[in-house]
Amino acid sequence: MATVRKIAILGSTGSIGRQALEVVAAHPDRLKVVLLSAHRSAELLREQAAAFKVSRSVLTSVESSPALAEAIATSEADLVLNALVGAAGLRATLATLEAGKTLALANKESLVIGGELPLVADALAARPLGSRIIPVDSEHSAIYQCLLGEDPGALRRIWLTASGGPFYGLSRKELATRTAADALRHPTWSMGPKITIDSATLMNKGLEIIEAHHLFGCGYDDITPVIHRSSIVHSLVEFADGALKAQLGVPDMRVPIQLAFSLPQRWESAETLDLLAAGPLSFEAPDEESFGCLGLAREAGRAGGTAPVVLNAANEVAVAAFIAGSCGFLDIEALVREALDSFGASPIGSVKHLEELDASVRRHVGLKLID
Ligand code: MG
Repeated sequence: MATVRKIAILGSTGSIGRQALEVVAAHPDRLKVVLLSAHRSAELLREQAAAFKVSRSVLTSVESSPALAEAIATSEADLVLNALVGAAGLRATLATLEAGKTLALANKESLVIGGELPLVADALAARPLGSRIIPVDSEHSAIYQCLLGEDPGALRRIWLTASGGPFYGLSRKELATRTAADALRHPTWSMGPKITIDSATLMNKGLEIIEAHHLFGCGYDDITPVIHRSSIVHSLVEFADGALKAQLGVPDMRVPIQLAFSLPQRWESAETLDLLAAGPLSFEAPDEESFGCLGLAREAGRAGGTAPVVLNAANEVAVAAFIAGSCGFLDIEALVREALDSFGASPIGSVKHLEELDASVRRHVGLKLID
């Protein structure tokens, strides 16, 4: 009989969390959920806890903030899926690593802002395949799969694919008048609102470059984003001998979620890619002039230290403002650029230092929005 893997799903009412529970429902003999968390959706959290007979669930907007970290530390879960949104996910990542549990990471911000923290850096030291951090982001899951059975030292370049987002092909002039409602009609992936706007600005790809840098130890010059509209190729890896490996499949987040749960095995799923119906696969360079967030993220990553913290905090505030209709699409990029110029880059002292900086960047950008 197969052993049952005990898992925690943090952010269970969001897009990734709900898809993770679909994976659990498809493999009831292999997976048992022992902990759920949500931020605000109390009703749905209650329903999920009842449906999956979960003994502990945490509503983070109501319970005191250390409650989630404590619930992670004391739960019987051996694997924690962190599907929280934004910088708020860092504490859960740290609590998971501190407790010695395996981390299935869908919260890329944990690595973007916390990748240099000793606890995270230590967990990544055995990267890419021996790390306790398993990527759930589809591109990083693809890269991880491409590296299976390979000598990590032979990795020469990562080709990070991007759908191009809902505003692909538009000029700066056209982008200036686009609204959140326009952006939320994403062509291929089914995702939450924050990541959908990040996909529209290409900030998502920028954050993923920083994420890939930390996960796979690849230099910024060796991570190349490439627009691939159909999202069939989920990323590629180039080796020292010039050979490329790619991972292909339907654009469905349940596949990388399930893999993070099943490793080192692969379990059956209903997903199947009809290659003959997939159409031609095309690749092109992103338009970094029109979509300036990509370059801002790459430069923040290169600068390191506090720069990615500033980038991320400014972006979170700007994206929330754009969704609320209180700033324009191109203002997201302008606000992030202004914050990076204002705050500069310095080494990260501690988690507390990081969180204080995060809060002051949010205040700073908030004041710019009122200006
Ligand atoms: Mg992704």
